[in-house]
Amino acid sequence: MEYPRITLRRGKEQSLERFHPWVFSGAVAHIPDGIEEGDVVAVESSDKRLIGVGHYQIGSIIVRILRWGDAVIDETFFAERLKAAFSLRRALGLIRPDNNAYRLVHGEGDFLPGLVVDIYGDTAVLQAHSPGMHFMRDTIARCLTEIPEAAIKNVYYKSETTLPYKAHLDPQNDYIIGTFSTNVAMENGLRFNIDWLKGQKTGFFVDQRDNRALLEKYSAGRRVLNMFCYTGGFSVYAMRGGATSVCSVDSSAKAVTLTEANVALNFPDDTRHTAIAQDAFDYLAGMERGAFDLIILDPPAFAKHRSALKNALTGYRRLNAAAFAKIAPGGILFTFSCSQAVSREQFRLAVFSAAAQSGRKVRILHQLTQPADHPVNIYHPEGEYLKGLILYVE
Ligand code: SAH
Repeated sequence: MEYPRITLRRGKEQSLERFHPWVFSGAVAHIPDGIEEGDVVAVESSDKRLIGVGHYQIGSIIVRILRWGDAVIDETFFAERLKAAFSLRRALGLIRPDNNAYRLVHGEGDFLPGLVVDIYGDTAVLQAHSPGMHFMRDTIARCLTEIPEAAIKNVYYKSETTLPYKAHLDPQNDYIIGTFSTNVAMENGLRFNIDWLKGQKTGFFVDQRDNRALLEKYSAGRRVLNMFCYTGGFSVYAMRGGATSVCSVDSSAKAVTLTEANVALNFPDDTRHTAIAQDAFDYLAGMERGAFDLIILDPPAFAKHRSALKNALTGYRRLNAAAFAKIAPGGILFTFSCSQAVSREQFRLAVFSAAAQSGRKVRILHQLTQPADHPVNIYHPEGEYLKGLILYVE
């Protein structure tokens, strides 16, 4: 297939030859006339060797490679990649009667840069992060419903906030295929209301599944504080794990309502749970020392961009310091960062500083990351974003 060719500057093909799928604008010598955002283009080295084909976009990442070599990007391409993504999730044991919430496509991690697909029962929530994927949305939706074992009936498109606004694509959040059926999904036998219409991201943070399961094991007999609870994922697992009490806190009143609904869905009339709408820093400052034996800190990304890194690290240090100051002796702290711009080492250093400030004896019990349905393409380390530590605080 002859796609318009983007030519690189001399020597700028090296990272692509190591299969890193992004072409940065500074690496480009020539862009052919007439190409538009979202078009499929071919990328060639300065000596005209074809490297791969991908989606063109205006910005610092100018091409996201979809396929190496001289390739065609058509419906078959998407059907095959999506089927492969599904096979991996099945091999991971994520598709079970008691578990139907999972990430089917994690961008570069599934060799589909610019695309995220989360599954909640028979509904797929599709999120495009590039104009190229936006233009392919109908094809992708069709291919999703054609994976028989996935049993996807409805595809909801949700890209109003994920596409570059300068591209003027005017994406409407709406069903592309099917319509609303149920918004109750199962994760490890627990039921959750998923609000993909109004919720953050695709409506639920499936990326904490394994970490929530680990929390369940630590909850028995403990008083649990779930800070930044959002839909109450950690709270519901803590209750099943036998926590003596669970307090969920989020600054958003809507999140508190969602958490209360999810707790009621699994544990109706259980008086162990309370939920509070308050700022995390205010709550921690006002809370009694020793009031909780297990604290979860899962804040939103403090650094959305590299430029915010310094403030983000200060934020992680302050937040963790507040928890170290108050957690009961023998307490367990689950602490996370989902900022891609913050490295594992930087996060650990921020938590280390917070621990040192408290002067308490702190040991690392587990080092956590994102689950296997959020795979990291080894040639694209930027795909790794979730970091967590489980700490024992004496
Ligand atoms: N732990 C959740 C995901 C957390 S998302 C899960 O497992 O699903 C981050 C949450 O932090 C959002 O719900 C947001 O409303 C809340 N939040 C943001 N800033 C906050 C603040 N300063 N204090 C308390 N909550 C905050």
